[in-house]
Amino acid sequence: MIHIVGGGLAGSEATWQAASRGMPVSLYEMRPVRPTAVHKTDRLAELVCSNSFRGDKLDNAVGLLKEEMRRLGSLVLRAAEASRVPAGAALAVDRDRFSEIVTGELARHPLVTIRREEILTIPASSEREPVIIATGPLTGQALSTSIRSLVGRDHLYFYDAISPIVLAETIDRSKVFRASRWDRSLGRSQACGVDDGEGDYVNCPFTRDQYDRFYDALVQAESATVHDFDRERFFEGCLPIEVMAHRGRDTLRFGPMKPVGLVDPRSGSMPYAVVQLRQDNLAGDHYSLVGFQTQIKWSEQSRVLRLIPGLEEAEFVRFGMVHRNTYVNGPAILSETWQVKGRPALFFAGQMSGVEGYVESAASGLMAGLNAVALIAGLAPAVPPRTTAIGALSYYASHADPQHYEPSNITFGIIEPLEHAPRSRMERKLALSARALADLTRWMSGSDLFRSGRSDQALDALNPVPIVGERRKALLERLPAELQ
Ligand SMILES: Cc1cc2nc3c(=O)[nH]c(=O)nc-3n(C[C@H](O)[C@H](O)[C@H](O)COP(=O)(O)OP(=O)(O)OC[C@H]3O[C@@H](n4cnc5c(N)ncnc54)[C@H](O)[C@@H]3O)c2cc1C
Repeated sequence: MIHIVGGGLAGSEATWQAASRGMPVSLYEMRPVRPTAVHKTDRLAELVCSNSFRGDKLDNAVGLLKEEMRRLGSLVLRAAEASRVPAGAALAVDRDRFSEIVTGELARHPLVTIRREEILTIPASSEREPVIIATGPLTGQALSTSIRSLVGRDHLYFYDAISPIVLAETIDRSKVFRASRWDRSLGRSQACGVDDGEGDYVNCPFTRDQYDRFYDALVQAESATVHDFDRERFFEGCLPIEVMAHRGRDTLRFGPMKPVGLVDPRSGSMPYAVVQLRQDNLAGDHYSLVGFQTQIKWSEQSRVLRLIPGLEEAEFVRFGMVHRNTYVNGPAILSETWQVKGRPALFFAGQMSGVEGYVESAASGLMAGLNAVALIAGLAPAVPPRTTAIGALSYYASHADPQHYEPSNITFGIIEPLEHAPRSRMERKLALSARALADLTRWMSGSDLFRSGRSDQALDALNPVPIVGERRKALLERLPAELQ
């Protein structure tokens, strides 16, 4: 039996990986008994902010990670495909449908028991009953205290901020245009199946004067008080717009408001700056402001964001906000298998383990789930090569410099470099992806965790209670020849 605490992206994926290999799992999820400040439903794998799983092409590291996860049988990826909404070269989903699919699959699984309770201290673990902690960035106080006493001063807090959402019908369509950057919606129809040829993003174009007015209002806007935050540190990839704006007048034009690759069809030229809006639900009535996470006061957001061309009369379904992010210092306490050093029956996964993002959290849950199975079954631990995105992520989270550790999204920069790299950046990325997928296939074919031979299926069909480890090996050898 495996005990998994937290039914978010990581915990749900870990549960799926273990249960689909015949291991019984108890999954503990505290919602709805104990809500968090951000989750809105009692569903598993609820997406708390953006509905995007980011890039979905192989010239992009998170696109590669997703492709690897598909090949590793990820439930999160399967549910994401089944709830996909148009988003250019990205994989974005209808959040309700997505979490409904994950919840339904796990609730129906005969080996999964979902327990709706808050876990207050780290449960006892053993090689027969490993524990995976996947309680995410909003882990409650009691469990945080228990984790802090385990990891000591390496247990840190830090903070992120999230983007506002507008009601689609309140966008002034006469001022905006639809397009994907570099027209990437073209040729995307194969990946997504939905493309009206107009491009998936709604772009709000700025003239120089409009940008200056917006910029001045933004830097003068009042920020919300960040209460009981002992330490205010933002993840560089998720900086609030006002923090970026304070770094210089043009910082936003080279960041979330960059106009490159976008041509306004009415002027035939590139705008001075752009705010991109992305569809946020399947109904298409909510659009989120891409990369516009902010902590300015809601009353101020209502004033400043209406200076964006096309949003003068916009109705905001949700304003941006700041949130807590709790995580452990991965390199100080975790091994490459997501096990706590010196306590092999205890795993951390998801945002709590020191990774960043939906996909990365699910990927770490996938690996922790596989390794918990390996531990019980007496199999070799699952450590994919560092030439793969998932192997590189495992390595980074356990081997980066613990003194200056920052949770990381997956990037090509943390994947082992090519021996003979092509000169062009694009070719280099594609070559890294091609090598990763070939290496992943080779690794999977040599790992007992991916055995799906006829004899295994026959053994499982004959035995309602899964048989693992040495006993499994012995029984497999004795199976009648016609079943092998
Ligand atoms: C406000 C906010 C906005 C974010 N925006 C984004 C974004 O736009 N894009 C992105 O990629 N990432 C975003 N993140 C990060 C995001 O949380 C992670 O990427 C992802 O949800 C992490 O998955 P997880 O499984 O680790 O945690 P979660 O998905 O948070 O799952 C943890 C689960 O554990 C449960 N739980 C917690 N404590 C206990 C306990 N003691 N006992 C039992 N159950 C417990 C929680 O209820 C929750 O269901 C955001 C985070 C926050 C807080």
